[in-house]
Amino acid sequence: MADRREYYRQYRKRNRARIAAMKRQRLLLRREAARVFMWRVRRETVCVQCGRQPVDFHSDAHLTQPRSRISNLVSRGATIGRIMRELQRCMPLCRRCHVALDGRMERIRAARRSAQAGAT
Ligand SMILES: [Zn+2]
Ligand SMILES: [Zn+2]
Repeated sequence: MADRREYYRQYRKRNRARIAAMKRQRLLLRREAARVFMWRVRRETVCVQCGRQPVDFHSDAHLTQPRSRISNLVSRGATIGRIMRELQRCMPLCRRCHVALDGRMERIRAARRSAQAGAT
């Protein structure tokens, strides 16, 4: 057991560059798979508010967790399973409805902030 661990340690040391290249390759493959998957999802998805395409995937949680954004997951080469779980938390919106919603939320947040600032 200890021998094996030492063997792998030595192996990693000797093959550092090759291992890094393999990891990079795996990331590229996963990212490509994620891109193709999202391309299919987008093709079949319409805006929940107006039925237009193409759509973005909006979630209120992304404001505080930008790393959970679908585009972020894709570029990080997240698994299809992870992306599907995130999609379930999202609302498909076309560009126009998305900008309107985010703008409305931004105005609400700004109002809250200034209300708080006024209170202190
Ligand atoms: Zn729309
Ligand atoms: Zn949004």
